[in-house]
Amino acid sequence: MSQTIADCKTRFEKYLNLNGALNDHVLFESNAFYILNDKKEKEFAVYANESKILADFFENSSVTEQLKLYKLKGLNKLSKKQLDSLVITMNDDSKLPKPNPSKPLYNIRIAIDPGHFSSNFEDSKVEGKYVKLVNEKARKKDTITLVEGQLTFLTAQVLKNMLEEQGAKVILSRNKENTTAFNQTYADWYKNRRNKVLDSLKQKKELDEDKYKILKQFPKEKLFWAFFRDYELMERVKKINGFYPHVSVIIHYNVDEKNSPWTTASNRNNSMCFISGAFGTKDLTRPSNKLHFLRLLLGKQVQQSETIGRLTMNSFEKNLKITRAKKTDTEYLAKNTLSTNYQGLFCRNLILTRCINSPLVYGESLYQDNAKECTMLSTCNYNDYGVKTSERVYLVAKSYYEAIMNYFKEPEVKISGR
Ligand SMILES: [Zn+2]
Repeated sequence: MSQTIADCKTRFEKYLNLNGALNDHVLFESNAFYILNDKKEKEFAVYANESKILADFFENSSVTEQLKLYKLKGLNKLSKKQLDSLVITMNDDSKLPKPNPSKPLYNIRIAIDPGHFSSNFEDSKVEGKYVKLVNEKARKKDTITLVEGQLTFLTAQVLKNMLEEQGAKVILSRNKENTTAFNQTYADWYKNRRNKVLDSLKQKKELDEDKYKILKQFPKEKLFWAFFRDYELMERVKKINGFYPHVSVIIHYNVDEKNSPWTTASNRNNSMCFISGAFGTKDLTRPSNKLHFLRLLLGKQVQQSETIGRLTMNSFEKNLKITRAKKTDTEYLAKNTLSTNYQGLFCRNLILTRCINSPLVYGESLYQDNAKECTMLSTCNYNDYGVKTSERVYLVAKSYYEAIMNYFKEPEVKISGR
């Protein structure tokens, strides 16, 4: 199937260009589009006859290979021979395995990212991902403590088991509770690996001398915000992309933004999901981001993410019985997202939605600090698949599971693979 420059332009306007932020960075003409440099000069061109092969190339190659092509090609038109040789270099991992009637997800690769990493209150203080509140609205006014990294990990475990039962191959971006993607706690990483990592980044010139000196002296919490948070997310990306998933699910639990600092319960509750897109003005400055942008602009991943996102929102609504978020509900939705055709589903340019090379959904199923929700989430009344947790966590896992099952029944997914 071929695609036109107009198809790319439609995708650009609908999913990628946040309130016109990219108008000075991307130029569309009738038979080509261009990525512009800082001086607004044309730097990289995609001509109509190249767009389909380049789309496949960007979805089936590493960032290193992509950067090489970006620099070599520039504004040149690729010859027939060059286009043919690009096809040969691609690996074919995006194709779906042959269907198996008894196991609907047979050999399909699914990556799950359980958001954050702490599973207990003490460790979660560094990343600030907990709520500790007194529920004034409940009959029993006990203090409730919820740790997001624990909820996401339990959800991921239930979901993994459900998917494997249907024949899927599943990886988790972190394998043990209370550990980071580096298979250890942040405290251990800080104690044992921090110096080695910073030294090696300085040696590779990925950190300049000044920043290196500053980071070396940072205490645990400061280093988390200034360095580790994004560094660890990139490790998740590496693991997930190395697995060539047909679809990826990123699991988070939300809080009511207007209820900060979350010491009492809120009446509000919402579900929302994010997919890739919504690039802002500064989001194309780094070369690697231009490559992620090109992959999303050329290929079908954003539309396929919209499909898994739409199905996930439908499942959340059906199973959790919570309303869908509106763009006006929070400041980050109003400022940083583009609406899709489906309420509660937004394009947002987060590290994971940008860098993961597969269709994906980033789910924020509910508000942990909601009055009813916090009580339900802290009630351990579910025990299956070797996981003891609350029924709410099970229902969230079930929602992702149903969305994935439905996703692979969609005609457009069956035809084009991931
Ligand atoms: Zn989160």
